[in-house]
Amino acid sequence: MGADKERFTTPLPNHLHCRVCLEISYPAVIVCVQEHQLCRPCAERIEESGEPECPLCLRQMKLPLRESLLLRRAVEDYQFTCRHEECDWTGSVVDEDEHEEQCDFGRVECPLCKALCTRVGLDEHQGVCPNARIPCPKGGDVCASGEPDGLRNRGEMQEHLDAACAQWQCIEGCRTRTTRANLAHHEAACKASAARIAELEAAIEAEEVKVSTLKLALARSKAAL
Ligand SMILES: [Zn+2]
Ligand SMILES: [Zn+2]
Ligand SMILES: [Zn+2]
Ligand SMILES: [Zn+2]
Ligand SMILES: [Zn+2]
Ligand SMILES: [Zn+2]
Repeated sequence: MGADKERFTTPLPNHLHCRVCLEISYPAVIVCVQEHQLCRPCAERIEESGEPECPLCLRQMKLPLRESLLLRRAVEDYQFTCRHEECDWTGSVVDEDEHEEQCDFGRVECPLCKALCTRVGLDEHQGVCPNARIPCPKGGDVCASGEPDGLRNRGEMQEHLDAACAQWQCIEGCRTRTTRANLAHHEAACKASAARIAELEAAIEAEEVKVSTLKLALARSKAAL
């Protein structure tokens, strides 16, 4: 196959098309004494077929295949687009490989988990990469023992939180931190005592209001004597 004709910004003239694959002959090779041309991959496939002849004039192929620099330059004069649809680069087809090396939408491998992402998407990927090292969201440094950098792979964090982490915090106001399994149990008891404390505090407050009302009445009575 030659170069994808759909990726040029304008249609190319017929003489630059390969008559076998119908794409653009790039690189184009001369295949017979009539100077008929094909794209190199198509010409090589015919050459290897055993009885190599030019598909246009059926004359014997002229070997070795010779690239046409004239046709190469003709194709390179047209504007070619990037292979990634999101990219708006256009340039000569000869520069496309070099562009791909730095295209924002080119695929790169995450160094941590080997996932393929776009060059621009790599930063965002670090935020979800299962192999990125992160601190425990419940315990931070407290949970860091046994890990040389005090961190864990993001992908292993859920397991730590579910099974090992003893830093799940009880309701506000309670200092208790425990495992996820123990937390529900503790919290139920803790809520009951918190409710009892609130009840007693409310009772004290009510008594205090009563006492101050009585004191006021007493003061008034004394003043009236
Ligand atoms: Zn071809
Ligand atoms: Zn020919
Ligand atoms: Zn691009
Ligand atoms: Zn990754
Ligand atoms: Zn933890
Ligand atoms: Zn508690």
